[in-house]
Amino acid sequence: MTAQRIGFNRTREGLLCDAVPVERIAKECGTPVYIYSASAIRDQYARLEEALGKLNHRLHYSVKANSNLAILKLLKELGAGVDIVSGGELYRALLAGFKGSDIVFSGVGKTEREMEEALRADVLLFNVESDQELQVLAEVAQRMNTRARVALRVNPEVMVDTPHPYTRTGGKGMKFGIAFDEALIVAAAALNLSSIELVGLDMHVGSQISQLAPYEAGLNRLLHLRTEIERSANVKLEYLDMGGGLAVSYESNDAMDVEAFGKGINTLLGDIGMRVLLEPGRFLVGNAGALVTRVLYRKRSGGKNFIITDAGMNDLLRPSHYNAYHRIEAVGQIGVGTIADVVGPVCESGDFFAIDRQVDDVVRGDLIAVHSAGAYGFVMASNYNSRPRPSEVLVDGSSYTVVTRRETYEDLVRAEQGGG
Ligand SMILES: *Cc1c(COP(=O)(O)O)cnc(C)c1O
Repeated sequence: MTAQRIGFNRTREGLLCDAVPVERIAKECGTPVYIYSASAIRDQYARLEEALGKLNHRLHYSVKANSNLAILKLLKELGAGVDIVSGGELYRALLAGFKGSDIVFSGVGKTEREMEEALRADVLLFNVESDQELQVLAEVAQRMNTRARVALRVNPEVMVDTPHPYTRTGGKGMKFGIAFDEALIVAAAALNLSSIELVGLDMHVGSQISQLAPYEAGLNRLLHLRTEIERSANVKLEYLDMGGGLAVSYESNDAMDVEAFGKGINTLLGDIGMRVLLEPGRFLVGNAGALVTRVLYRKRSGGKNFIITDAGMNDLLRPSHYNAYHRIEAVGQIGVGTIADVVGPVCESGDFFAIDRQVDDVVRGDLIAVHSAGAYGFVMASNYNSRPRPSEVLVDGSSYTVVTRRETYEDLVRAEQGGG
């Protein structure tokens, strides 16, 4: 009996994803390629579920982290709901088999068309982010002769020390959520609108959060607000949506200690008599994926050492956009190291995966894995430099499936006049 291999692991044959050699996938599918481990996703899901224990809760996977249909179907099988931020994500979620009652609709700028689509799907909740959005949603629901279930996304105004300012969302003066001191007024407005049913409160304090404290601070503010709203009107709020943001390790930072998180949340929310929703994205899929790319060239220039790969910033934007750290390793035999910049072929100086990093001393033709690329990887890929987007592969145990085929040149121009 061999132990089940979960996620990316190294043996004498080189790097495996679950039990499948990464080199085999690269040979058969070409590069660059995103590779995901189904067992690693199941494992993270089970860890979080176990940590939350008896709490009355549901995990609504944040689709924007990785919206591939196969991943959505996998999470649906596990019992997850989803958190969406656009009509396109609603379309994907329904296609993957989710029901309206599985869906929470977040986002700071919903259009009327998106509201109509979500009302037609009868989504569980709209997380509403402003008074004006509330009024527009009320009008749309009225027009459609229906009622919209609403949770107010309140800005808890807790400052979070995430690794990058772009991933902080819950501080005072940010575009997200209703300002804390206006929440009561908006709640009163919601209670007065006949096509709105106010059913909950919501927050999302940021991303890559490794401490319980910001959740605790934010939730305490939301619970305080709940008491005031319920006291001011004869209403019971059913849902408390605490957002996502649980950190995973990229090896340069701490992961969330999920057991301690679960314990803390249970202590805080165990007996509040509300249904608690969580919207984890990165936590479930981040470390379950890698971007595998082939080394095109090595060169020295200006006293520096460059490794040029066939993947670029258009395939994985995070290093360029957030200055994010991704662990990099050779897929084949490792041994000697070198200090180099790992860069892509795109015509931008910001096109890099690592700068002055100690990495395996790979040569032209070798494969390297850029780890922790399961979240905010492929979903942020673009066609910049007219580069077809890579394929995506889902590994499960000893087999794999191509869940997105590599784009072709025809795909690049399909929507353009003259493009066929
Ligand atoms: C992005 C986002 C999430 C997921 O964030 P992660 O850091 O991937 O867990 C959850 N909820 C909302 C409203 C978001 O915008």
